[in-house]
Amino acid sequence: MLTTGPRGTRDILPEASGHWQYIEDSARKVCHTYGYSEIRTPIFEHTDLFLRGIGETTDIVEKEMYTFTDRGNRSVTLRPENTAAVVRSFLEHKLYAGPQPVKLFYLGPMFRYDRPQAGRYRQFHQFGIEAIGAVGPTIDAEVIALAVQFLRQLGLSDLTLYINSVGCPQCRPVYRTELQGFLTDKLSHLCGDCQSRFDRNPMRILDCKNSSCTVHTQGAPQIADCLCDECGSHFIRLKTLLTAAHIEFILNPRLVRGLDYYTKTAFEIQYAPLGAQSAVCGGGRYDGLIAECGGQATPGIGFAIGMERVLLALEKQGLLPKSTTDIDIFIAPLGEHAQATAFRLLCQLRQSGLAADMDFMNRSLKAQMKYANKIHATYVLVLGGNELEQQSAKLKQMETGEQIAIPLDDRCEEAFDNIAISHVFQNTLQEEA
Ligand code: AMP
Repeated sequence: MLTTGPRGTRDILPEASGHWQYIEDSARKVCHTYGYSEIRTPIFEHTDLFLRGIGETTDIVEKEMYTFTDRGNRSVTLRPENTAAVVRSFLEHKLYAGPQPVKLFYLGPMFRYDRPQAGRYRQFHQFGIEAIGAVGPTIDAEVIALAVQFLRQLGLSDLTLYINSVGCPQCRPVYRTELQGFLTDKLSHLCGDCQSRFDRNPMRILDCKNSSCTVHTQGAPQIADCLCDECGSHFIRLKTLLTAAHIEFILNPRLVRGLDYYTKTAFEIQYAPLGAQSAVCGGGRYDGLIAECGGQATPGIGFAIGMERVLLALEKQGLLPKSTTDIDIFIAPLGEHAQATAFRLLCQLRQSGLAADMDFMNRSLKAQMKYANKIHATYVLVLGGNELEQQSAKLKQMETGEQIAIPLDDRCEEAFDNIAISHVFQNTLQEEA
């Protein structure tokens, strides 16, 4: 147990962390271009926030929360998602008093006690955005466009965007009654969860993945037929906006969220090759949530993207970037007497902004060269008795074999600065190419 992490958690090891940085950087870049700023909230909150903000009849609250009593006897919960926490922070820090809409993004771990499988973990990571304060469908289109652009810019194809409208507290009760009427004589064929959802949250029955529930809800009435004028027109305008921006979508009347504060737009992006866990992104409008959390009625919309699933999709499509050369210069001291000079040079190289390393294992020259190759060092500087005596060493470029003489006295600083400058120049040329 001491050498195995908890079930459903994963270590992100050095060879994988470059991939994480790559997708996190992409998320930050796309948010910057859309005007979204980063918000970082705590990973635990008062349990009541999630009971309110997610809803007591949801699977997350009923079965999946990591809730515990802290030493001060307060009930706290590891965040299972982040919208409620962002809304709490929006209210606590009076972000509503600033320019509207408030456009925020977050990246970080979430926690759900679920049955782990490929693409489903107990600690997983989401990239999400929230746009708070705008009521019209243009912001819905923007939020969807951001999700689509993020995934497309990573190179992913075969993604499908599904959209639906879940109505509002005015029109949804009519639909609920119609749906309950349709389901009444099918109740005994539904799974236990859906039977208990029938009274409390019947729309979620449409979302159930159980095969018997899927079969017996075929032909169920669709919410699109019950939308009030406002929700209907919002949905039509959203579709027009997406079409104008060449964002393809498929209408999915089974895409639902059953709680009153979820309103109008609901959407999901699927990557089918991931199989059972194919949802990469889920989002929607929550015009009733901020009032539910104790604020003035304020509209909002957001999404969350599962980063593990994005990485799985990138891996499937062979799109993960190769790990890049990290070390510019490796110093190979020969013998103990060369180590002080090597360490002085190492510090100077690093101060010049070069990624540098040296041998810490008292290896032979052959073993040091082998190691320098392994870490893909661009240059190696060998420091032996001769070099120390002559106060000059050769910097060898590993790929070409080309050598540059480096003075080991005070002038080395200037030499290193020159290498750093030419290095930056080369990198820029490479990036431009
Ligand atoms: P949700 O907050 O349930 O709407 O989920 C949004 C996205 O987070 C999903 O589309 C998944 O990509 C991801 N996600 C949700 N739950 C998990 C989980 N247990 N493990 C990994 N990813 C998850």
